[in-house]
Amino acid sequence: MSREVAGLHAVRGVLFDMDGVIYVGTRPLPGVREALDYLASTGRTFLFVTNNASKTPAQFVERLAEMDIHVQPEQVLGSAEATACWLAEQVAQHGWVKGPVIVMGQDGLKVALQNNGFELTTDPHAATYAVAGINFKLTYEELADVTLAIRHGAKYIGTNSDLTYPSERGPLPGAGSILALLTAASGQQPLVIGKPNRGMYEQALARLNLTAGEVLMVGDRYDTDISGAIPLGLWTAGVLTGISTRAEFEHASPPPDLIADDLPHLIRQLRQVD
Ligand SMILES: [Mg+2]
Repeated sequence: MSREVAGLHAVRGVLFDMDGVIYVGTRPLPGVREALDYLASTGRTFLFVTNNASKTPAQFVERLAEMDIHVQPEQVLGSAEATACWLAEQVAQHGWVKGPVIVMGQDGLKVALQNNGFELTTDPHAATYAVAGINFKLTYEELADVTLAIRHGAKYIGTNSDLTYPSERGPLPGAGSILALLTAASGQQPLVIGKPNRGMYEQALARLNLTAGEVLMVGDRYDTDISGAIPLGLWTAGVLTGISTRAEFEHASPPPDLIADDLPHLIRQLRQVD
């Protein structure tokens, strides 16, 4: 392991991936309430972080409440919100033009961009930015318009690059598959914000107002959740309630700081260093 696990007592905030960590499908995983209570009792904050860009924070809160997990909208960061905040930051701090955005996406993404002060357009020639993510109702016309916008010079930005997402029917096309189509059609590569890219983690740290060394990222997928957090200096924990196996976490290079069977096991490990 890269660092002494005893250093974990310095952790002030925890980022939880959602699917495979907090719930699987519509079923909550054991120990969520106890884990959040333990963090509160030790003066720590938390944020749920998901690459899912289809929902608004309020819709995430509603979905979690159906599983008896009760959080505030500001305690959930989806990649739609992260992408919109990131783009607003580029405008405010790095001199990017505050121009109209053409969107391939759903409410989660459109509302997030509007809340961050961006005007939306459907005119390929008027768009300064082309922001794309999952859209379960996409049409050929929308694909055509976003392709034309990118070809016309709109800066191409993606919410996340997950090629598939899990469903009862099996893996279905995810945001990354839509980005792949737009890339093939436009000849341009997107700048992607969602995990494992740094944009998402930076927005999460800003939301918690903590530095990387004060934050633990908990995830079930090494490639999505853990691999991008390690180079930024976050503490990392892999849990075995989702995609990656213990062997995959152990043999990854570098491995996460902790590997836990589930959330109760993770909290027992945190208690040992507190
Ligand atoms: Mg997951």
